Amino acid sequence: MSERTLHGLDFGLDHTGRMRGIDEVEQGLACKCECPECGSPLVARKGAVRVHHFAHQGESCTTGAETALHRMAKQIVADKRRLVEPGRDTPTVFRDAALPDEMYWPGRRPDVVLLTESMTLQSR
Ligand SMILES: [Zn+2]
Repeated sequence: MSERTLHGLDFGLDHTGRMRGIDEVEQGLACKCECPECGSPLVARKGAVRVHHFAHQGESCTTGAETALHRMAKQIVADKRRLVEPGRDTPTVFRDAALPDEMYWPGRRPDVVLLTESMTLQSR
């Protein structure tokens, strides 16, 4: 496996609240994405030399790249609704999934909520 140097952010937040990969968006400010940490507009850099990435239009914040990876990971888990646990070959498939700002879960702040067939949640 080859390694690469991280330049900027791998993912940007679009106007609908979804994380987008660099290959999903147009180049430059036309990507219409922002940093999920600081809200700064992002520029999609898709040149011929460096690995394609998002960069802050202005000054970079220090934790945007980590926040972008975290939010994208949560989105993938929620979208796929399946996990392969260590030591198992087959994935567990969940009935539904949601990100925490869509859920009421007293005393907890989950990254993502996965519901099995027997689980129910209280509504507010
Ligand atoms: Zn930022």
